[in-house]
Order: sequence, then structure tokens, then C-alpha cells
Amino acid sequence: MTDRYFVENPIEGRQARLSGAEAHHLAHVMRAKLGDEVVVFDGSGAEFVARVEHLGRSEVELSVVARHPIDRESCVAITLGVALPKGDRRRWLVAKAVELGVARLVPLKTARSQDRESSDASARLRQAVIEASKQCGRNRLMEIAPPQKLSDYLAAASDAPRLLAQPGARSFRSTLDEIAATGARPGAIALAVGPEGGFSPDELGVARDHGWRRVGLGQRILRVETAALALAAAVMLCFERE
Ligand code: SAH
Repeated sequence: MTDRYFVENPIEGRQARLSGAEAHHLAHVMRAKLGDEVVVFDGSGAEFVARVEHLGRSEVELSVVARHPIDRESCVAITLGVALPKGDRRRWLVAKAVELGVARLVPLKTARSQDRESSDASARLRQAVIEASKQCGRNRLMEIAPPQKLSDYLAAASDAPRLLAQPGARSFRSTLDEIAATGARPGAIALAVGPEGGFSPDELGVARDHGWRRVGLGQRILRVETAALALAAAVMLCFERE
């Protein structure tokens, strides 16, 4: 994938502007010149070819040459509810979820998770989403929802299949096969992955009452990020178009 740049403001007319780190990268790291053409995206689903018109100190002005509605989204809209680990593991999980095509990530507050991230945590996670999207070619930004109580997440009404990862449960494979066997590819799937301490018995009860299916991911206990990404990858690959 060629270098791609992210534009904060939706591109509507013929003009676009890079600012901050994006402008710095193009102007000073890539040493762009007036008239150079670059690929930019604004997270709304298309990518654009744009020409460098003005190189400012901290901004680059571009004129839009072409708009290409290129869809690199997964066929099934995956919502990944996960009790996020901390620090680098959290950012790593978010970046990999973007690569795997997760549509929406919901940080879960569970009985056994402690969440003490700083107040700029969501801005840093958004930056991780942007960086991963630039690299993997996604033109739509993965949404990161505000943190949600697990019980609310589990109870939300939905027609989509819902899978909760639980060590020792029946293999995810038979459940995915059942879903695939219905013939119709589901438009959406919701997933739930617990914290390092696992889901509590009460939480598992709430999930059962709301129709979540428990799925196992092999014989070993996986770290949160491994479990979340293994499940997201399995779902994405199961329904990927040819
Ligand atoms: N101590 C917990 C494990 C927590 S692992 C226990 O023994 O239950 C963190 C989360 O990753 C779990 O809540 C579950 O959602 C998921 N997970 C880890 N390994 C898994 C496996 N083999 N199968 C299914 N889910 C798994």
C-alpha cells in the first residue's frame, strides 16, 4: 500500500488540508514538492488522489484530483466488546482489530476488570485507529464506543448472532458452521471477550439469559488480546467474500 494520509475534516469539495503529524510527515519526512500527488482518506469510506498546492509550516494544502469509493470493509459488521488490557497491549489490540476489519469496538466494564486509564486514553486509541487504517488501506475508521457496562452490552437488543468467548465452551467452529449453514450471511455479529480474571458466574448468567452463545477457542487460556483477535479473525475469514 502506498503512503496514505489522513484528513481530519470530511472532504467535500476540491480542497483538503493536512495538519499536525500528517502534514509534518508529508512535508518533512517525505519531502513532498508542489505538484506531487498523494493518496488521502477522511474515514468516510472513499480515498482520494490529491495534489500538493501549498506547503506550510504545519499544514499542507491539497487539491482533490479524483475520488475513488474503495471499500475494504469486512462483509460482516463485527462489533467487538472486550475488557481492554492496559497500555501498549490495549493500543496493540486496537490496531490489530482495525486490520482485521472490526467495525466497532466497545470497551467493556466487567466485574473483574479495573480500568484506570488516563483521560487522554480515547484520543490515543483514535490515533492508533488512524495509524492502522493508513497502513492497512481501510477507508472507514473503526468506531471506538464509550466504555460500557458489560450487563448493558449483553442486554442490548439485537438480531445479530452473539458470541461470548469462554474457556472450555464448545468450539467456536461448530457455532460458526451453524451460522454459516443458515445460508444467509449475517449482516452483523457481536462478540464478547472477558478480562484477565474471566467473566463472573453472574455475568455468564446474564449472557445466557440474553441469548449469547458461548464459544471456546482451543485448549489453552489466551490473553485477552489473543482471544479477541483470534475470534474476530475467525469470524471475518468465515464470511469474507471470494
Ligand atoms: N482466568 C480466566 C481466563 C481469562 S482469559 C478463566 O480461567 O476463565 C481472558 C478472556 O479471554 C476470557 O474471559 C475469555 O473471554 C477469553 N478466552 C481466553 N482463552 C479462551 C479460550 N481458550 N476459549 C475461549 N475464550 C477464551
